Amino acid sequence: MRTIFTNCRLIDGTGAAAVDAATVVVSGQEIAWCGPSVDAPSPADGDLVVDLGGKSVMPGLFNVHVHLALRLPFPERRIDQFERGYRTLLMYRRALEAITTGTTSVRVIGEAHFTDMDVRAIIDKGVLPGPRIKAAGAALIATGGHGHNSMSCLEASGVDGFRQAVREQIRAGADFIKICLTGGIGTPGEKPSDKQIADDELRAVVEVAHANNRIVASHTGGTGPIKDAVRAGVDCIEHGYEFDDEAAAMMAEAGTFLVPTLCVTQELDYMRRHGVQEWMLDKAKAAAAEHIASIRRGVAAGVTICNGTDLLPSDPVDGTVATIREVELLVETGLTPLEALKAATHNSAKVCGLLGLTGTVEAGKRADLLVIDGRPDQTIRDLRNIRLVMKDGAIFRNELSEVNAPGLVAPGVDLVGGTFAKVY
Ligand SMILES: [Zn+2]
Repeated sequence: MRTIFTNCRLIDGTGAAAVDAATVVVSGQEIAWCGPSVDAPSPADGDLVVDLGGKSVMPGLFNVHVHLALRLPFPERRIDQFERGYRTLLMYRRALEAITTGTTSVRVIGEAHFTDMDVRAIIDKGVLPGPRIKAAGAALIATGGHGHNSMSCLEASGVDGFRQAVREQIRAGADFIKICLTGGIGTPGEKPSDKQIADDELRAVVEVAHANNRIVASHTGGTGPIKDAVRAGVDCIEHGYEFDDEAAAMMAEAGTFLVPTLCVTQELDYMRRHGVQEWMLDKAKAAAAEHIASIRRGVAAGVTICNGTDLLPSDPVDGTVATIREVELLVETGLTPLEALKAATHNSAKVCGLLGLTGTVEAGKRADLLVIDGRPDQTIRDLRNIRLVMKDGAIFRNELSEVNAPGLVAPGVDLVGGTFAKVY
């Protein structure tokens, strides 16, 4: 049986203008056909035809900067806040929340004990349902550097130390390598522009990662460190708290991805609600204006922007969930709504190495789809009105009466997000 969505507005994620009066045909796990309804294949016996009445169909959202075991406030010294099994189950629960709120793919960018790979495996093997996951293992940091107070980071020193740390992540099954080149917000006693990994160490990370076909994503703030990262061949800049026009031009020229994580500095109420300490709030506040100004420089220079939050994809922020709020913030940096949707789908799929499989609505790709009530390519706030979430053709959330599917139901457990207050 195929599901045929008719009378919809097709936003394919490539940045192409939306197609009105479109049809999308889902067969099994795949998109079998999509395009203008006048050219659509006729339904066969047994096909389910769903008239969407002008609603939009678009690719499932990506969130490419997530720590599924996130717990706020951060401790100031490294302590394990969770027993390992509990940590893995909590991460899985949050992955479920992500997909039920529209994030069908998650890039997990620093976790303890390789628990991200356990969650990825249980979903990829079809043991349990969940979003598509790409995993880094631990974030690699300089000894005493950014994240030394977090279980999700692994300290290393020297060229040999960093080489070994990269190889350990690859051995465990890392899809990509995450490093923290500079200071940041969540560790006391450092500035986001402080460079903590030396150039020879940085080059060693990139050399070993690239030789093993892994990209390097680097937590980086500050003009000088961003330029050094681009020169060393880093593939993806995370946060980009502060950089000038020249650094922006270098990223655009090199094809370096940029994941702004604007939620980190623009959504201070979220941090306050979760009891974040004054020192961290002060750092976020101090970085806020220059962060958004820098991302505007990146957008203006044509840097490839992706969607990531650092917050849980499903957590409530400003009346919606973090993944969607970040897309709205991207529009405030100068992307059009259509470009912001491309950032959260096509571009983010590309940085995950998943563009051949998903990230756009095209025949032959996996059916990772959202149905949206409204026109998010014109009015980004319409993205809040998700009526259906599908991944690999399976329905994880459904508010359409024409479709007889319950979505993912966990009796007695609310999967709408906001687990901070409830789960510990
Ligand atoms: Zn992070």
